[in-house]
Amino acid sequence: MIDLKKPSVATSTADAPSAEQDHVAAWQQCLSLIAPAVGEQAFQTWFEPIVPLRLVNNVLVIQVPNHFFYEWLEEHYVHVLKRAIVQVLGLQGKLEYSIIVDQNNGKQPYTLNISQNIQLQSATPPKPFSPFTANKELVEPNLNPRYTFANFIEGECNRLARAAALSVAAKPGLTSFNPFLVYSNVGLGKTHLIQAIGNEIRRIHPCHQVMYITSEDFIAQFIDAVKFGQVRQFVARFQKADTLIIDDVQFFAGKDKSQEQFFHIFNHLHQNGKQIVMSSDCAPKDMKGLMERLLSRFKWGVTVDMQAPDYPTRLAIVRTKLSMQGIQVSQEIVEYLAQSVTDNIRMLESIATTLALHYAIGGQELTLSLAKTIVAKLCHAEEPASKQFTVEQIQQVVAEHYYLKVSDLCSSSRKTDLVTPRQIAMYLCKIFTEASNKVIAAQFGGKDHSAVSHACKAVERKMQSDESYKKLIDALKAKIKNLP
Ligand code: ADP
Ligand code: MG
Repeated sequence: MIDLKKPSVATSTADAPSAEQDHVAAWQQCLSLIAPAVGEQAFQTWFEPIVPLRLVNNVLVIQVPNHFFYEWLEEHYVHVLKRAIVQVLGLQGKLEYSIIVDQNNGKQPYTLNISQNIQLQSATPPKPFSPFTANKELVEPNLNPRYTFANFIEGECNRLARAAALSVAAKPGLTSFNPFLVYSNVGLGKTHLIQAIGNEIRRIHPCHQVMYITSEDFIAQFIDAVKFGQVRQFVARFQKADTLIIDDVQFFAGKDKSQEQFFHIFNHLHQNGKQIVMSSDCAPKDMKGLMERLLSRFKWGVTVDMQAPDYPTRLAIVRTKLSMQGIQVSQEIVEYLAQSVTDNIRMLESIATTLALHYAIGGQELTLSLAKTIVAKLCHAEEPASKQFTVEQIQQVVAEHYYLKVSDLCSSSRKTDLVTPRQIAMYLCKIFTEASNKVIAAQFGGKDHSAVSHACKAVERKMQSDESYKKLIDALKAKIKNLP
């Protein structure tokens, strides 16, 4: 039996059991740590089908049935897997996925190996980008590598915006597209496009300092900076950017102090020939609550809009998103989906993911009727959540996810690191428990009931504007639903 606390597997050759035993035993150890953390149903679905293949030099290779399965694990269980690997293999442990890719054309399945670098300096998850914590010259750009031009499907609705974005990416700071502002309704690809600019710049010029941040995070970090007397460092950090990308600038509305700082940073960067890229949900002329002098700066460069996709573009999006999930469906289903969802690409993507999920887990046949059920479920109001849980259970799930103690969630600290998980926990309590705002607030260290409604609004708003945040909330919801 391997001692869980000691990183003992496959570190020595003399006394080590055979390689064959090592990987099976190590994976069993991991499973025993994972099982209590994920709930029975999720465990059966996502962990039992995994086959450990080998363990060499502290790299544990596991085989997963398909690419979708791998992505699901990475998206929903990466922290659980990391924790288990660190406990079983130690800080040098690594995980590698071997993915069976079914060619679907009669050829033998082959495997694709993807390494997941599990190495951690401590059991603490990496902190989100903060302008204060980074000490090195280059700050993490905070970009999602999936948001590239290659993955961005072109149609009439976004042709101009895409072309302009490509010009900006090719010559950041050197075109007249500075600042570059793209606006559209929600779910139409703003975040994708402006991050694609960042990723493309980094691809061409690895040393170019790109910084991406949402206006909401900018505001939150500015508030922290004020509180901790670090406004100068805050401003200096952003002034180092060669390209600064600010998402959803409409949330600066009414936040005069933050706007003021952004205004100074904007001026500094622009005067020094640096590129500024922004997105918003409306044209500058319709932005309410933004200072006139800031709005006038926005008009110096180029503003482009993106429309809802037309039918041919929707067809292309559906086809691409399904094939990215590794599934093929009939033309009839593709057309049905493209006809059903007309104004939100994010929704089309969710439907493709859900279809892939049914296929990958249940081996379910992808029929038109299944597609209709999924569209009906996703496009109309979410099913009301079952209210069978307690506030303590929800607090536990959220605290565990963020490697915090429940008492941290209930404290009165206003640090961003705590405010975000606390708001999420309050929001999930509202959804999954019978408790009133007053009762929830009381169980979070005796706060005022208005804190709960404020938290719910903040979470809902952020879910609208931040895809990765929404995915995090969905993953937490799934975790709660799977609680024993
Ligand atoms: P917004 O910021 O406008 O709300 P996002 O950029 O978050 O929209 O897009 C929502 C989802 O739809 C993302 O996953 C994104 O990758 C996808 N998406 C949007 N537009 C396109 C496109 N033209 N091609 C491919 N995927 C897209
Ligand atoms: Mg967005």
